[in-house]
Amino acid sequence: MSAPADRALRVAIVGAGPAGIYTADALTFDTGGVQVDLLERLPEPFGLLRFGVAPDHLSIKSAAASLQEVLDRPTVRLFTGVEVGTQVMVDDLRKRYDAVVYATGADADRALQVPGEDLAGSTSATEFVKWYNGHPEATDFDLSSTRSVVVVGAGNVALDVTRILLKDPAALRDALVPPHVADALRASAVTAVHLLARRGPEHAKFSSKELGEIGALEGVDVIVDPSQLPAEPPAGTPPMAKRNLALLSRWADAGLPVSARRAHLHFHTRPVAVEGVNSVRAVRVVRGTDQAEGFLDADLVLRSVGYRSRAIDGIPFSAVTATIPHDEHRVVRDGHPSLGEYAVGWAKRGPTGILGRNRSDAEDTAQSVLADRERLLAVRSDVPDGIDDLLG
Ligand code: NAP
Repeated sequence: MSAPADRALRVAIVGAGPAGIYTADALTFDTGGVQVDLLERLPEPFGLLRFGVAPDHLSIKSAAASLQEVLDRPTVRLFTGVEVGTQVMVDDLRKRYDAVVYATGADADRALQVPGEDLAGSTSATEFVKWYNGHPEATDFDLSSTRSVVVVGAGNVALDVTRILLKDPAALRDALVPPHVADALRASAVTAVHLLARRGPEHAKFSSKELGEIGALEGVDVIVDPSQLPAEPPAGTPPMAKRNLALLSRWADAGLPVSARRAHLHFHTRPVAVEGVNSVRAVRVVRGTDQAEGFLDADLVLRSVGYRSRAIDGIPFSAVTATIPHDEHRVVRDGHPSLGEYAVGWAKRGPTGILGRNRSDAEDTAQSVLADRERLLAVRSDVPDGIDDLLG
């Protein structure tokens, strides 16, 4: 048996999305003596880059090429179709690796908690996003008799689904849309998307670039009620929100709509019930400071109110924050940082931030792993086996 300090550190990373692969990158880039196994539940790697980023955002999707280069390193192995917490248990991994990094992301959705949200035709935007990205577990969407869609939420996912619903299918020619989705979008009867933001436009979470893309859609009018915009950006409004307000003011000042398809952006408007008998017919909303009640026609309701991490058997999880508790990226188990267990990405930070944020986060997590290296190698006298025996 080799002396512990002479051997490579064996690290398992659970989840091969951007956070997991960036962590593998940081651990193996210029650090000799680290071997990484990435374990991925789905049949393909890249997580939300593959199954979350909109299929017409080709420049973001192209980041997959640099992630693939990491997977191609001789010190990195990828195992797909391996579900930790059911098929392979956390204890198995802890026995077979010096360190385990949880990069399990946030692929579940949050509920609105209003009556009627479980009616047929009311679902999460994350389901719709999975569908248009060809996720193997996605449910199908038939849009051929869907005219009006209500999207609840004012984040970038809400704008992504609004854009895909209203975009001329011909303009999606180069997008990475699976053939069955392209057929469904060509057969779509959607003419109106109502996006509901519960707060004012200065508080919207979406970015100006994504908002501008709605305005740039061919054959689509963007409808904004000028009375919902502040006369001036309030003091302290961040630059992004100021740019959003400028775009919204321009659309609010535009004349009568002329196009067949419309994106209605409603601010200070929140849903209080999804109405219908067997399926969705409308959304009951309250608006403004006087809480005036109104109805919006809807054949489809997509709640886009954020992602959520799921608890995984054997991995500490805070039900309050829906994240893995950590101290300097080391998982906190039974109130103490657990030697050899780390967390990274949305599973640790919660579901916010663009792709690049995961790179710096992964570098920080890798630093903690590498700082523990000597202690991790000293903990055991044997050479850990890796997962191969469990996979037959
Ligand atoms: P998000 O940015 O957190 O936005 C969630 C939205 O839902 C907010 O407007 C929030 O309003 C609203 N909301 C929450 N609970 C609600 C409720 N009960 N009723 C009504 N509205 C409610 O989430 P996301 O859009 O899912 O995006 C997740 C992350 O991925 C973000 O960091 C985003 O920037 C990123 N992303 C980026 C891109 C891109 O760069 N193109 C694309 C997709 C996603 P409040 O603000 O009032 O809470």
